[in-house]
Amino acid sequence: MTSAGRFAPSPSGELHVGNLRTAMLAWLFARSTGRNFLLRVEDLDRARAGAEAGQLRDLGAVGVNWDGGVVRQTDRGAGYADAIGRLTDAGLTYECFCTRREIQEAPSAPHAPQGAYPGTCRNLDPAEVAFKRSMRPAAVRLRSGVTEYTVSDILHGAFTGIVDDFVLRRNDGVTAYNLAVVVDDAAQGIDQVVRGDDLLPSTPRQAYLASLLDMPVPEYVHVPLVVNADGVRLAKRDGAVTLGDLALAGVSVARVRDHLLASLGLPAGTLDQALAAFRPDSLPREAWVWPGA
Ligand code: GLU
Repeated sequence: MTSAGRFAPSPSGELHVGNLRTAMLAWLFARSTGRNFLLRVEDLDRARAGAEAGQLRDLGAVGVNWDGGVVRQTDRGAGYADAIGRLTDAGLTYECFCTRREIQEAPSAPHAPQGAYPGTCRNLDPAEVAFKRSMRPAAVRLRSGVTEYTVSDILHGAFTGIVDDFVLRRNDGVTAYNLAVVVDDAAQGIDQVVRGDDLLPSTPRQAYLASLLDMPVPEYVHVPLVVNADGVRLAKRDGAVTLGDLALAGVSVARVRDHLLASLGLPAGTLDQALAAFRPDSLPREAWVWPGA
């Protein structure tokens, strides 16, 4: 399989300039290293009708093109079930019946890191499981053998983060993001993951899971986010931040693209032109404040 990078948006609404900048970076990293570039729509959750088409159109408009067709996570259920089945056969999963509230209120296990699942359902006996199953549907959790794991990131170096008994399948039957992303990246031959640095804390869980599934761990590049004037991650409520809104404010797509390229220290023009000047080492390491339209 040819090595590849990817962009994996959740079709929850329109992409904003922060999402577009991350997509441009993912494209530049992949193309500058001779990789294919794939697009995966992460529609297991939060999918809004019409959002996907708008996102693909906006990516194309700023010059982010991709190889082959679009993969949708809602078509990938068999791959997720197979992975959870393999982990279960190896004794690496358990059913969890906890509500969010029960987890919040449970005393944390000794030495467990803050925010880690306290392990309430880890060692239930079969009779307890049978009783709880009759009360509410179970989520499936990983029986983790570690409490932390270290990944290596091109921009951040070694990063160690919490690995708890995280959820693989929610109790509504939806596959959890951490499982889906690992299975899909492996199935698509993705060996370079470029995404926003808000996802760095989840990465040790994903890399550990990949190791348990005998799947290769990709190269990670967690890039700085675009933030608003208060230093908070950019969101729709921050005014004209989508191509659609910016067009209404009289700002052309080319101008938005050039502005995003300038924020990366790259010359104005097409992404192909930017590629020639792209040097990962000289990328800004700080979040970029969106100056507004
Ligand atoms: N779908 C995720 C998001 O839009 C990105 C996941 C990833 O890049 O691994 O936040």
